[in-house]
Amino acid sequence: MILGSHVGMSGKEMFLGSAKEAAGYGANALMVYTGAPQNTRRKPIEELRIQEGWDYLREQGIGNLIIHAPYIINLGNSVKEDIFELAVRFLRLELERSQAMGAEALVVHPGSHVGEGAEKGLARVIQGLNEVLEDEKTTIPLALETMAGKGSELGRDFEELARIFDGVRHNDRLRVCIDTCHMHDGGYDLREDWEGVLRELDRLIGLKQVAVVHLNDSKNPRGAAKDRHENIGFGAIGFDTLYKIAACSEFSQIPKILETPYVPGTDKKTYPPYQYEIAMLRQGVFDPDLKRKIVEGEQ
Ligand code: FE
Ligand code: FE
Ligand code: ZN
Repeated sequence: MILGSHVGMSGKEMFLGSAKEAAGYGANALMVYTGAPQNTRRKPIEELRIQEGWDYLREQGIGNLIIHAPYIINLGNSVKEDIFELAVRFLRLELERSQAMGAEALVVHPGSHVGEGAEKGLARVIQGLNEVLEDEKTTIPLALETMAGKGSELGRDFEELARIFDGVRHNDRLRVCIDTCHMHDGGYDLREDWEGVLRELDRLIGLKQVAVVHLNDSKNPRGAAKDRHENIGFGAIGFDTLYKIAACSEFSQIPKILETPYVPGTDKKTYPPYQYEIAMLRQGVFDPDLKRKIVEGEQ
């Protein structure tokens, strides 16, 4: 099972620190933001300590790296020209950074239509992706994430993602990242009909296009369009379904990345759950006592 989580990349150690963090969780995959997810300030590639990070990862047998673009960039904005242009410019640079880092894909949220309607928003996203992918400096794939449909988010169902694929000239560079929390919050019935969801995904996009799975439980009922992640087995999707997805043969060769929340302790601090969630998924047995163990294990 190729399993990991998002890990930090900051300070002096940068990617070397990311590698150490992932190894500490017993992961064999990892996902990083190249800087703060809520802004577009980034260090030059030479300062990321890429080679040292990879030396460390290889020693630990970790081979799958995914990069996540910051969630503030919006290719779907058809109102403010500067926001759209920033997104295009930034994504091109992010593709260069991701390629230099040796990532297998760059995950991006398709965008938000900011009140203009899905029609206009999708057209803008397609225009933006065409501009981004015209730049032939990079070859790394761009994975569009399935979204929960919160606010005016685009990519809330497979149809919308399929329309983006249809409109993008260089769609051989596009892939998808399926986020279990987002699909559930967007209305897909992962619990009762995972096979049906897979068939739908295969029909509209193709299972081969899936480059990453974001494995998260959800705090909200199916269809809530909320996007609030929960720890594995503690939410509305539940352990059995998430384990089935993590273990399914269709995605055995692609990384499953946890983006579950840190667990609050009694000391007002919060603790990373990934080492524990990864171990639980590898064993395939839910531990209802996991949150207590995380806090006690880390304190
Ligand atoms: Fe995301
Ligand atoms: Fe996600
Ligand atoms: Zn989310």
